[in-house]
This record gives sequence, C-alpha cells and structure tokens, in this order.
Amino acid sequence: MRAFLWTIATMTERFSPKFIPVVDLRAGSLSVPASSLVAANSMSANGQVSDKLGRNLRDLRISVTDRCNFRCNYCMPKEIFDKDYAYLPHTSLLSFEEIVRIARQFVKHGVQKIRLTGGEPLLRKNIEGLIEQLAALRTLDGNPLDLTLTTNGALLARKAKALKAAGLQRVTVSLDGLDDAVFRSMNDVDFPVANVLDGIHAAQAAGLGPIKINMVVKRGTNDQEILPMARHFKGSGMVLRFIEYMDVGATNGWRMHDVIPSAEVIQHIQSELPLVALEAASPGETAQRWGFANATGAHDRAAGEIGVISSVTQAFCSDCNRARLSTEGQLYLCLFANQGYDLRSLVRGSATDEDLVSAIGHIWSGRTDRYSELRSAMAADAGTGGRRVEMSYIGG
Ligand code: SAM
Ligand code: SF4
Ligand code: SF4
Repeated sequence: MRAFLWTIATMTERFSPKFIPVVDLRAGSLSVPASSLVAANSMSANGQVSDKLGRNLRDLRISVTDRCNFRCNYCMPKEIFDKDYAYLPHTSLLSFEEIVRIARQFVKHGVQKIRLTGGEPLLRKNIEGLIEQLAALRTLDGNPLDLTLTTNGALLARKAKALKAAGLQRVTVSLDGLDDAVFRSMNDVDFPVANVLDGIHAAQAAGLGPIKINMVVKRGTNDQEILPMARHFKGSGMVLRFIEYMDVGATNGWRMHDVIPSAEVIQHIQSELPLVALEAASPGETAQRWGFANATGAHDRAAGEIGVISSVTQAFCSDCNRARLSTEGQLYLCLFANQGYDLRSLVRGSATDEDLVSAIGHIWSGRTDRYSELRSAMAADAGTGGRRVEMSYIGG
C-alpha cells in the first residue's frame, strides 16, 4: 500500500488551485479495544444498540471492492486513480464468508437494512453469491433484510435478472445527467449514457424496484441537467435524488463554490414543475422528499416524487443510523471518519461470534460522530480538518 504526496497543480482547472496533500489512509485503523471482547454479556444482542447521541444502529453499508470502471471526477479522479494506483490486493478484501459472518452480528444489534456498494459493486466477482447469502439473513423480528445495492449501472443490463434471482430487492443507480456528452465527461471514461439507461430499464423489468436514481450536482458541470432529469423521471415510478457534492476523501479538490445547495435545486425545479414537501418515510432517511404537485397544489401520486440529500447545507447527523464496513473489513462510524475499527483482524483471528457482537456493540455505543453538523458550524470551506477516507474505499 503506498502513501503518496501529490499536488493539485497537475489537475485540470475544474479543481481548486490550492495544493492538496493526498495521503493514503487505508492503513489507518484502530484495533478493537480488548475490553469490548470480554464484556460479551453486557453487549450481547438485545435488539438495539444506541450510540452516545441516542442513535440506534439500523443500516449497514458494505463496500465490496475499491475498484471502479468509472473515473467520476468528484470521486476517483483519473489523475490519482491511474494505472499505477495500488488497489487492495485480493487477500486484503473480506471474503464473502467473512462479510456474511460480520453482517450476521450486525443484524443481531438491530440492523434492518444492508446496502452493497464500492467502488463499483458489480465488478466484484460472483456478487450474486454474496447476495444470496445475505438474503437468507433475518432481522430480529424474523423478516428479510431490506437488501439493496448502489451501482453506476454500467453492468446492470447484463446482471439485473441474476441479481433479482439471488435475492436483491432493489437498486439505486447513479446517473449524473441525460446529455451524453455531459455524462461521458463526468464518468471520464467516455461511457455512453444510453447503456446506463438500458441498465435501469433492465432493473425495472427484473423487478428491482422501487428504483432510486442518484444525481450528484456539481456547479458548472452538470447543473443544466437538473430539469431534464426531473422531467425524465417524473411519472416513471423511480425516485430521483439530487445529492449535494460533498467534501469526502482528499482527492476531489472540493470547494464550497462547486456545491449547489438543495434549496437552489428545489427552487429551480419549481420554476417549471410545482412541488410539495412530503413527510419522511422512515427515521434516519437521508433524503428530504418532495412530491410533484397537481393543479390544486396537492401531491400527484402518479407523478411521483424527488428527493434532495443536503449533506453539506443541512446536516442530518442527529438521526444518522448508518455503519460502514470497508472493503478490507474496517468499521467506520461516519462517512467522514479518518479511522476505522479493524474487524477483519477479529474474524481472521480467534474471535467468536459473541466476541464480534460485543465488539460491534461497544464500538457503536461509544460513537459521537457528527461531522456534517460540525462542518455546518464552521466556515464552509474550512471543513473540520483532519484526513478523511476516500468514498470509493468506504462506499457511499
Ligand atoms: N460506484 C457506485 C455508484 O457510483 O453508484 C457505488 C459507489 S459510489 C461511491 C456511491 C455514491 O456516492 C454514488 O451515488 C456517487 O454519486 C456518490 N458520491 C461519490 N462521491 C461523491 C461526492 N464527492 N459527493 C457526493 N456524492 C458522491
Ligand atoms: Fe466509481 Fe461510483 Fe465513484 Fe463514480 S461515484 S468513480 S462510479 S465509485
Ligand atoms: Fe452520519 Fe457522519 Fe454523515 Fe453525519 S456526517 S450524517 S454522522 S455519516
């Protein structure tokens, strides 16, 4: 694994003209405190574990690969993730058996939803085999998990049926615009938008719904696509969500100037398509929901809804119930954390399932993370300092 220093001066002008040291954070991990392994009884699964801010553990995101076939400039800029980039060796990755074993312990603590992500999760060989095993898990109430996956859609047309057959319930597809030139330049590998649209249709046909579509909005890059996207997905049965461009990782040259606040996105859409605010569907939901309105101003259910994810301008840490498991088995308590807890060394060591349950419970119950709220309290461009892990490593 290499650590490297790189200057932003070599990048295109769409990035900040500052020097940004880029440090490989993947080795930065905390070992799991021994005390958490001896207190198995106090932390054995009782159905729910709360953190220091009273937030229950509900949602587990699992990154299954750090590789991707796209080079979205806000996530894996080509200049960094080039042919010399040292991806994790296969032996570092959690095996499917290890992932399922860890996931099972999370479920004992009340996790109800698992999202597979990456990198690009559909690049992981035989991902269907992992899905099949995760689909067999049951929540504490005896129900199937809400099992979903976030993908760039490039391989979806080919894989949708097999994913559904393996037990995947639904997918979220990232799509940053409908204009082919804009889309090709955002994925930066010249991938045509038509192929992703084909993938979305295949997912719909396979019954992988309700499908969510994620669009990261970056000022001056794809903001002209907001209305065409809203028009396209209105009435489609799919939920389009606009995501504020975030300061994740250390490689994307993030500047506040490039963020289009969700309020501006909503205002822009309202100029043509009237919207009405909707209630949150579930606690800890990341998106604020807006319904397309009919002539009387009421929600037109047939037209559907959109969502906005305002991670930068309106922090939603207060009910954040998400844990993240990195490709190599580090448990992260926040998307913006700079260190994870090394669960892989436990599963590859002599830890029993009870030890794992106990460790997870202790780690979660000590959680105080609320990065976005802290950032909101500071000058926007300042961030909270410190090094952060890359999105492609920890997953979205
Ligand atoms: N490769 C898959 C994909 O793109 O859907 C899954 C992994 S990707 C890291 C998960 C989500 O994170 C995607 O919807 C992507 O658009 C979003 N994302 C990545 N970098 C981001 C950033 N800097 N700000 C906001 N969202 C970002
Ligand atoms: Fe790949 Fe997804 Fe990151 Fe784009 S956002 S580079 S598709 S991991
Ligand atoms: Fe959750 Fe961290 Fe995002 Fe806040 S900043 S919502 S704690 S992941």
